[in-house]
Amino acid sequence: MGKLDGRVVLVTGAARGQGEQEARLFVEEGAEVVVADVLDEQGETLVKELGPRARYVHLDVSREGDWAAAVEAAKEAYGKVDGLVNNAGILRFNALVDTPLDEFMQVVQVNQVGVFLGIKAVAPEIEAAGGGTVVNTASYTGVTGMAYVGAYSATKHAIVGLTRVAALELAAKGIRVNAVCPGAIDTAMSNPALLDPAATDAGPATGSAAGPASASEAASDAVAGLYRKLVPLGRIGRAEEVARLALFLSCEDSSYITGQPFVIDGGWLAGVSAM
Ligand code: NAD
Repeated sequence: MGKLDGRVVLVTGAARGQGEQEARLFVEEGAEVVVADVLDEQGETLVKELGPRARYVHLDVSREGDWAAAVEAAKEAYGKVDGLVNNAGILRFNALVDTPLDEFMQVVQVNQVGVFLGIKAVAPEIEAAGGGTVVNTASYTGVTGMAYVGAYSATKHAIVGLTRVAALELAAKGIRVNAVCPGAIDTAMSNPALLDPAATDAGPATGSAAGPASASEAASDAVAGLYRKLVPLGRIGRAEEVARLALFLSCEDSSYITGQPFVIDGGWLAGVSAM
């Protein structure tokens, strides 16, 4: 028996990274999953692999019309929607005083407005289905500051706020709403070398134990080295680990939990270590 048998969950930003792992795990646990993203080719390839319990829909989370169409497509495919994982997000690096308004608003539009529109479009469907869950993807920068990601951090704090308010407003409708707050997770967002190794490679990957042979391997090694130092557990997190937390918050194991942000960061935010 799966932990999500009989459930229909829409996961945004599910063509790659954490959303992809959430889609994979949720299908494994018995759910029917709507894989939503703007990366159509990657999304279609993923659902082909996952089989009939996964469908792809093109959904730009910042567009209200896209949400309405995605909900309709989900209901047409599986009859209902009773779970939502608001996972899609974008990151931009800039000092606050150097951030163009357009860039700031782009991040707000996807990360913050996207989560708002998702709750607005899907919560009534979850209620109609008899109750269910929403998991919002915030970040450790949603509970503390981080220099040079001001727009991003502001939106992630907003997501924690939206999570609390939605939990209060939706509890009586049988909907639990929680947030995951990942630290550094090894995806294209934190490690762009994963995205297109060819773009950063100086040549063919011929690395060995002796050392990295390409620019992308060197970049990955630098990222790994950085998090070995910064994170008490000594490594960057894996998308699969965040997926397991999203699963916990989407299934009956968390039946008495709502309105909470859950930090998953290898201990990074636990405090300062002098050693
Ligand atoms: P990622 O870049 O691999 O995945 C993000 C996904 O969101 C992509 O598939 C992308 O196409 C999709 N997306 C972007 N804009 C979209 C839009 N307008 N509509 C629909 N989909 C859109 O990175 P990830 O690490 O898997 O990120 C997943 C979530 O986790 C994001 O919300 C991110 O902010 C958050 N997060 C990531 C980290 C990290 O270190 N990787 C840390 C904390 C929080």
